[in-house]
Amino acid sequence: MFSAINPLLKTVIKKVDVECEQDGSLLIKSLKRFLGEDVHLCGSCAILDRRIANPFYQIGARIMRSEPRFMRDRFLDQEYGEAWLKGFALMMKGIEKYGIRIPFTPAGPFEIVWNFTYSCNLRCKHCYEDAGFHRPELTTDQAFTTIDKLSKIANIGLPALSFSGGEPLIRKDFFEVAAYAKKKIPYISIATNGTLLTKDNVKKLKEVGVDYVEISLDGASKEVHDSFRRVPGCFEKTMEGIRNCVDENLDTCIAATAHKENLDEIPKIIELAQDLGARFMHFNYVPTGRAKKHVELDLSPKERLSLLEIMGRKIVSLYLRAKEEEQRTGKTSIKTDRFFSTCPQFASVVKRLAKEGGHDFTVSAHYAAKKGVENVANFLGGCGTGRLYVGLEPNGDVKPCVFFPTNENTILGNILEDDFEHIWDNNALLWKLRTREKLESYEINGQTIGCGNCEDKYICGGCRARAYGYFNGNLNAPDIGCIDNEELWKKATKSFPT
Ligand code: SF4
Ligand code: SF4
Repeated sequence: MFSAINPLLKTVIKKVDVECEQDGSLLIKSLKRFLGEDVHLCGSCAILDRRIANPFYQIGARIMRSEPRFMRDRFLDQEYGEAWLKGFALMMKGIEKYGIRIPFTPAGPFEIVWNFTYSCNLRCKHCYEDAGFHRPELTTDQAFTTIDKLSKIANIGLPALSFSGGEPLIRKDFFEVAAYAKKKIPYISIATNGTLLTKDNVKKLKEVGVDYVEISLDGASKEVHDSFRRVPGCFEKTMEGIRNCVDENLDTCIAATAHKENLDEIPKIIELAQDLGARFMHFNYVPTGRAKKHVELDLSPKERLSLLEIMGRKIVSLYLRAKEEEQRTGKTSIKTDRFFSTCPQFASVVKRLAKEGGHDFTVSAHYAAKKGVENVANFLGGCGTGRLYVGLEPNGDVKPCVFFPTNENTILGNILEDDFEHIWDNNALLWKLRTREKLESYEINGQTIGCGNCEDKYICGGCRARAYGYFNGNLNAPDIGCIDNEELWKKATKSFPT
């Protein structure tokens, strides 16, 4: 589709992909200049900027329908501008290397989720890491080396790193490693079960500069949360951890994995998040790790849809209020990035709900409701595995997504032993995940269904980890959690224990 324009784009970007001794990355500096920042450039960089970079950004912004004000706000004025700028540079380098693709592949991931430890103080039924028993992990020094390597990805550096687990706060060196990471990577976050978020630990998170804390809560009541997390008393501790983060003014998100036993409680958890001023993240049930043993807990497509619609309506309403305020006053204080889902069908659902109200926008799954991404939803592409994001295991193994099982087929290499750029550029499994044209469809009852036949495959693509889990490692199989694939769900779940 882009074969005619790609050679030209590659040539143009190559000319401005200059690492100048005096100015640093010209890709980043010229973008800052384009957005209005007073950036001094040496003579030769200034010529490249005037003749090539600036006109290129002008045309690009017009094609992408990006409002300059939105871009300025994201890249320059916002607290996390540095992460956005690195993301932008990785995108440009990705086009230089692989051309424009739908969805696109940057020259390195925007985010890595690092399962920092296999240890955990809870025993949750759905743990993708099957955490709790000892396996070799990176030492503190190896963790530092890992961060050094991540900060040099594609000569630009990783924009965002998230510590997960197991329970990351269990490791005694967590704060030391996180502090080191914050010096080298602009956006640092932690995903935790919340039980160790004492006032002291939360203060330390703040001191270290952790930007975002995501806390798992699987029930609005002690009974539901504790029975799923399988340690009595953890609900109170988690709730206290959430309050401590909110009190400390940390960007706090409550995350719930939706399944059959807590579906009724999710609206209450959403309400709790709203009352506390926290964000809400819905995690999809993915049959991997311990969750594979409890696959009967997975939501049916109808149940999943009902939940996505609850969140989708909230987003549409926030979005429209923000738009109305912006039209009326020229700016808005309404935050639209309040509800997220790891379920890539979210983009499809929001698109439909907006359309029903006569509007034309959507979100992009994990990047839900970031105002301004709606014009590039198919470029961002829903499921980001192996493109926008990868997972890192506690021993340094690299995986396409933390929700993939860990085995010889899914380990792409090791961060200490292998060259990350070589993996990123060449790994066959990654390229399979980046290619939506090969997604499969099936004939059932005279109907063709499956992600391969879906008009939304470029804004969604289905959760590839769920496809892998349900179809014995078939990366191109349909995500049977989607309402459009309900007939496949019915077939597959006939064998589930009841
Ligand atoms: S069929 Fe697949 S690509 Fe289409 S909306 Fe459903 S999960 Fe997404
Ligand atoms: S496979 Fe894709 S949609 Fe599924 S959890 Fe991973 S990144 Fe998200």
